[in-house]
Amino acid sequence: MKDINVLVINCGSSSLKFQLINASSEEVIAKGLCERIGIEGSQMTWTPAGGEKYEVKMPMEDHRTAVRLVLDTLTDPERGVVKSLDQIGAVGHRIVHGGENFASSTLITDEVLRAIEACNDLAPLHNPANLIGINACRELMGDTPMAAVFDTAFHQTMPAEAYLYGIPYHYYEDYKVRRYGFHGTSHSYVSRRAAQMLGRAYEDLKIIVCHLGNGASVSAVKNGKCVDTSMGLTPLEGLIMGTRSGDVDPAIIEFLCNKEEKPVQDILNVLNKESGVLGLSGGFSSDFRDLEKAYRAGDEAAIRAMETFAYRVVKYIGAYTAAMNGVDVICFTAGIGENNPFIRSMIASYLGYLGIAIDEAANEKRGEEIAISTPESKTKVLVVPTNEELAIARETAALV
Ligand code: ADP
Repeated sequence: MKDINVLVINCGSSSLKFQLINASSEEVIAKGLCERIGIEGSQMTWTPAGGEKYEVKMPMEDHRTAVRLVLDTLTDPERGVVKSLDQIGAVGHRIVHGGENFASSTLITDEVLRAIEACNDLAPLHNPANLIGINACRELMGDTPMAAVFDTAFHQTMPAEAYLYGIPYHYYEDYKVRRYGFHGTSHSYVSRRAAQMLGRAYEDLKIIVCHLGNGASVSAVKNGKCVDTSMGLTPLEGLIMGTRSGDVDPAIIEFLCNKEEKPVQDILNVLNKESGVLGLSGGFSSDFRDLEKAYRAGDEAAIRAMETFAYRVVKYIGAYTAAMNGVDVICFTAGIGENNPFIRSMIASYLGYLGIAIDEAANEKRGEEIAISTPESKTKVLVVPTNEELAIARETAALV
């Protein structure tokens, strides 16, 4: 890979995460986070490679100010990690929704910006913030090449029977209402890495990736192509998540509107922010560390939340095994998938029909790349820590 430094930018509505990665050594040179942009109390935390984390508290009225602070810090004569902006060869931007316009990452041009903007109504909370980040970087970094890496792109290979909803077809034609899927950078990275770990050709494998974090999704990757994934038009569909409901009967919405005398937006807010394991545990917690502790202490609400969460994952694994006519390897990734042996074994306990046998000692490991199935296990089970920033840096370096 080219010997350039790639600045990876992930802009949220009031935050900006960044990493500077050398594309050749894949070393993280520095990383950080600007929070509360446009809100009182904004701050940046920043960690140079091998150095200590420190905080800069200063007002950041907009994303442009945040990008300026990031660039000034990276090039600071005392605390910085590069001499000048010339040593940043490219910028990779994480973009949430590329609609049907983007099946792969792309270099950013004015035309690409317009196409991303056209997807704004599909992701009204995310895409506008992503665009603000791009514009701020373009303003401050002159001709530095920039790439857009989409959360949806990896899933564009899904066949129509997987992406269509059973609603009048003209809604797809008129408004592009269909399933898109998200976390694509992670599903792509993890599935490829799984093939490498097994020493097998990516194109020969049937892989199920369980990305289990606050946001959670499952994907089916057959012969190197995504054929199905659990998130839909928006990231609300599919698995039960930290605070999101995942799949529900759509009639629930009207039913609750009537019962609670609330508008649709309020109920959607409940489905996005007050549901999932948080809602199932009666508001106790969306964090699996809290839930596991309470589960072990016999707390009924935590038991209910974790078992319902695990069961939904198990149902998707079954569905995707059917969709691919088999499965060679199941991967766990993201905060819960990488760090929670308890939930992994709860899920695996349903999978005897796939000939899965778990190595309990290996399963106790956290946050490392490891096979947690026994050598005899018919279907392999791997933990593969995801690395979306590295994947974005690789895509960007390959494009420039
Ligand atoms: P997000 O979707 O916000 O990126 P994460 O992937 O960080 O979410 O996942 C958050 C979840 O992962 C939490 O429920 C948390 O309990 C779990 N988690 C993250 N890190 C650890 C850890 N080191 N040990 C145990 N659980 C963890």
